Amino acid sequence: MLKRLPVESLLRAKVMRGELILRTLASSCATSNPMSIKLEVRQVAAAGRGLFTKDPISHGQVLYRQAPLVACPGLGATGKLESVCSNCLAFFSQDSRKTADRVEFCGDDCESAAQETFLGVQRKLELAPLQEHCRRHNIRFPLLVARLAFMCLSKQASPDSLSSLCFAKPPEPLPISWVEEYTILRGVLEKAGFTADSLSFLSLPWYVKQISRLHINVFRVELVKPLNPADWLSAAAASIGTGGSGAAGSGVYLLPSMMNHSCDPNIDVLFPENNFKMELTARRDISAGEELLITYIDAAAHVEVRRSELQWAYGFSCQCPRCNEEASLIK
Ligand SMILES: [Zn+2]
Ligand SMILES: [Zn+2]
Repeated sequence: MLKRLPVESLLRAKVMRGELILRTLASSCATSNPMSIKLEVRQVAAAGRGLFTKDPISHGQVLYRQAPLVACPGLGATGKLESVCSNCLAFFSQDSRKTADRVEFCGDDCESAAQETFLGVQRKLELAPLQEHCRRHNIRFPLLVARLAFMCLSKQASPDSLSSLCFAKPPEPLPISWVEEYTILRGVLEKAGFTADSLSFLSLPWYVKQISRLHINVFRVELVKPLNPADWLSAAAASIGTGGSGAAGSGVYLLPSMMNHSCDPNIDVLFPENNFKMELTARRDISAGEELLITYIDAAAHVEVRRSELQWAYGFSCQCPRCNEEASLIK
């Protein structure tokens, strides 16, 4: 299963490893590591940095269970937002749907959580121009940056919330669509009456930094669609071959973003509540000192497909033991 989004546009440049803010990681671990496993970040020759365990971990043990720093629903095939909760990304069951000013929620809890974080700001403005831009270009990241900006304006996030994540070097010159997205976002906020002072963080360089981090750190939130008969028909029409699951949206998670890729990972990425809460569990027993690895792509694919996908989306040719072994067999 594809866990991360492929790079969306021009960003295929070599991945630059950002300065790690250990303080951020430590506080993330304290709140999100149910088993209190001690982790450490170390430099890795080929990959810049990686996340290692200082304690042994048993098969099936949960390392992390947390909602994303920021998330937003995906744009469906028709360009409309997916029919998912705007807060937790859960697909709706038919009787639990709740609408607030064209934004939909699975219930009161999600609506009040959204109100505190992004909805208070979003309700004051007309987001349609940015949604239309995203639909036209088939991109999602500007909506994530918009939500982060709304959270900053509500004082529920800091403008440097994503600063500990790795980033890809922005292309030069900047893609014209990035400048357009930024201009649209800034414009809808100004039109809604937000002052230059309150928008001082929202500069073009800030926007570019967020986008260049999202490109390599966003996880696709793949959830199971509800299986009542009416939904069977619409799900089949919308996404033939997805087997009842689909990308409900995208989210940024701090701890798993620190993990490198392997086609034979020792950590599974799961969404056990069928919403945006991510769980990391051990696929097997892991010894103290081992690196924790997840897969960024469909690990069931053929070695050549895996390598070309990783090269295209993340700028590296996978040299994991499984790839090397499988590649040697076809030479
Ligand atoms: Zn919800
Ligand atoms: Zn590999």
